[in-house]
Amino acid sequence: THDVHIIGGGLAGSEAAWQLAEAGLKVRLSEMRGGGDTTPAHDTDRLAEMVCSNSFRSDDASSNAVGLLHQEMRRLGSLIMACADEHRVPAGSALAVDRDGFAQCVSEQVFSHANITLERERIDALPTSGMTIVATGPLTGSKLAESIAEATGKDALAFFDAIAPIVHKDSIDLDIAWFQSRWDKGEGKDYLNCPMDKEQYEAFVQALIDGDKTEFKEWEKDTPYFEGCMPIEVMAERGIDTLRHGPMKPVGLDNPRTGRWPYAVVQLRQDNALGTLWNIVGFQTKLKYGAQAEIFRMIPGLEKAEFARLGGIHRNSFIRSPELLDEQLRLKSMPHIRFAGQITGCEGYLESAAVGLMAARFAAAEAKGETFEAPPQETAFGALLSHITGGAEAETYQPMNVNFGLFPPIEGKMKKANRRLKYTERARAAFADWAERTGTRVGELEPA
Ligand code: FAD
Repeated sequence: THDVHIIGGGLAGSEAAWQLAEAGLKVRLSEMRGGGDTTPAHDTDRLAEMVCSNSFRSDDASSNAVGLLHQEMRRLGSLIMACADEHRVPAGSALAVDRDGFAQCVSEQVFSHANITLERERIDALPTSGMTIVATGPLTGSKLAESIAEATGKDALAFFDAIAPIVHKDSIDLDIAWFQSRWDKGEGKDYLNCPMDKEQYEAFVQALIDGDKTEFKEWEKDTPYFEGCMPIEVMAERGIDTLRHGPMKPVGLDNPRTGRWPYAVVQLRQDNALGTLWNIVGFQTKLKYGAQAEIFRMIPGLEKAEFARLGGIHRNSFIRSPELLDEQLRLKSMPHIRFAGQITGCEGYLESAAVGLMAARFAAAEAKGETFEAPPQETAFGALLSHITGGAEAETYQPMNVNFGLFPPIEGKMKKANRRLKYTERARAAFADWAERTGTRVGELEPA
């Protein structure tokens, strides 16, 4: 018998199991690796295997949202952070780890916890009752994925992310770009438009064709995805005017500086409720990150663009969380089921573990007849959670790393470095207030 069933022993599931067990609850953790199944990306049967890079990214808590999340996780007793710290390898200001030592550490801690029973089993359907956390990640087993799609509706579960780049609004040049919806339909402020003349457009199309691209992996090739999310560079290759008749169509958009439609246009659409992040419409791409930054800064108005996220297309199962989940990560239509990790639409090892930690705190409180109040949006935890459970636009929802664009904006003119410092200072104060108000036990702040 158990209090909570966790499906998936990756970054999120392992953290969630640990948090629940430490709170005194009995956990059944189902992991299919080691039981005759695997995913196309995992190589071992260890829990919390890092499938690609060995880095948890920046560990700088004073000027970086990722480093800030590290700090908040350590203060809430994260197992993932404890093992990462123990198996750290030199990487400048980043937190990189010995991946084997790290996964071994997580596995041993989970195996040896008296409150956790690890079952090497594949789960093929959402349990119909009993408190459950689904943390099966970007490569969720296909039968379980079908069962999730049945519960959420087919359109609400994606198998690929077709990620268009996202730009910080304050880095867009509003002397060049202008607000307007095509044919003035909808709200006037729905789109930001960047105009191109013929010469700029042709150079841009050529740059897309010439840019460095990443290849699809073998196992990604046979999943059909192309309808509606063809990479921008593939469109560019189809003919010089393909983009001008597609996502870069200028009709119905009057450039206020010339009074005319431009030759071609790049549109950006608001990406979060705060209005701090804007995505480039239709610009999903397999271009390498370096090439993307260079090529997209050729767009008039985006010369100094700062990207919250660059574009991509990968195999990735995730649900349309902003619409489907309540603020405690419960599936609204089946509230005994919570989701955690990358399947909620966060992106990255660290973020997945962080959402696992939060899901466990919510579940632990619920099991004890209490309520866990999540940290406020000014903190890294709060910013990430609000993005998942409501802040992001459901229609265009795509996985996202933690970044300052998810925090309530700090207004006023100041240097970028000062603004970052202000975000992290405000976050620490908000975290301390929250801990005190809610009586949550938190660890000391480590010395800077
Ligand atoms: P996972 O860590 O994938 O854990 C999910 C677990 O659930 C797995 O152990 C799986 O075996 C198990 N499972 C799945 N279905 C079932 C089932 N039906 N029954 C039982 N168990 C099941 N993030 C980064 O930060 N840096 C990177 O460099 C990076 N590279 C990536 C490369 C690839 C190819 C992929 C696919 C993802 C990459 N990611 C990277 C994202 C990374 O996978 C996630 O950030 C992170 O591992 C997600 O954590 P998770 O716990 O949600 O899922």
